[in-house]
Amino acid sequence: MARAVAENVSGPFFVNERCIDCGTCWTFDPEHYGAGVNTAFVHRQPSGAEAQRQALLALQACPVAAIETSAELLQQTPADGFPALITTAGDAEIFYCGWASRKSFGARSWLLKRQAGNVLIDVPRWSAPLARRIQSMGGVSAMVLTHRDDVADHQRWTQALGCPRWIHQADGDAAPEAEHQLNDWDAETIAPGLQLIPTPGHTAGSLCAVLGESRCVLFSGDHLWWNADQQVLVCSKQYCWWDFEEQIRSLEKLQDLDVAWLLPGHGHRHQFAPGQWQQAVQQTLAWIQR
Ligand code: SF4
Repeated sequence: MARAVAENVSGPFFVNERCIDCGTCWTFDPEHYGAGVNTAFVHRQPSGAEAQRQALLALQACPVAAIETSAELLQQTPADGFPALITTAGDAEIFYCGWASRKSFGARSWLLKRQAGNVLIDVPRWSAPLARRIQSMGGVSAMVLTHRDDVADHQRWTQALGCPRWIHQADGDAAPEAEHQLNDWDAETIAPGLQLIPTPGHTAGSLCAVLGESRCVLFSGDHLWWNADQQVLVCSKQYCWWDFEEQIRSLEKLQDLDVAWLLPGHGHRHQFAPGQWQQAVQQTLAWIQR
C-alpha cells in the first residue's frame, strides 16, 4: 500500500507516493489535480457528476496507479472516456488517448480522426477497451512515433490495429520493426495534410508531426511544450538527452509555421492566436541565447 501524499486536500480522491510526477493528471484535469514538489496532489475534490467524471478519467490515465478513490466511485469510471475530444482542425477531430504508459513516463498520445485515415501520434499503454474504442472510430492507418522515449507498447498496438509505424532512423533502434524509417533531415509528407519534420535535439531522431498547412496543429513529442504558469514555450535543456544546440536549431526550423495548436507529449497544450506562435518561438530563442 502506498501512502497518500501530505499535500492532498481531504476527500475521496487522493494521490499516493507512487506518483512519478509525469504531469498527466494536472494537465488533463487541472481543476482537481495540481503539481507539487516532485509529486502531484489533489487540490480540490470533484463536486458534481461532470467533475467526478474528469477526476476518474485522470485516475484511469495515470501510468502508475498513483491516484486512488473508493471502490464505489471507481465503478463509475466511464467506459468511453478515452479517446477524449480536444479540438478539431479542418475535417480532423483530435483526441487525447489517456491510458498513459510508464514506459514513456506518462507521455500523451493523440488520435487524429479524419476522412483521409486516422493517425495515432505516439502510443498509450496497452488497453484492450481503448483498442476497441479506437477500432469503433475507424481504426488507424498510420502510427507516428515522435522519438525513442515514447514508443511504449507500440508492438501490441500495431498488432491490434494493423497499422504501419513511422519513426526517424536515428531513433530507429527503439522500434526496429517499424515499417517506415525517415532517413534524412527534410520534412516528409506521409499522408494527405500530414507532414513529419525531423527536429533532432531532445533525442537524435526526434520529429514533430504537422497537421494542416495554414493554421496547423503541431504534435511536438518532447521537443517543446507550453508552460501555462509562465505563459512561455519551453525547449528544455534540463530534459535534453542528446544535443541542446541541435535542439535549438530544430526550434528555429519551426518558427515559420503558423501553429494554431501545440499538442506535446508532456507539459501543457496550448492554442495560439494568429501571429502568436512566431512571437512565442522568438521569445524562447531570445531567452535561451541571451
Ligand atoms: S498522473 Fe499519476 S504519476 Fe502522473 S503526475 Fe498524476 S498522480 Fe503522478
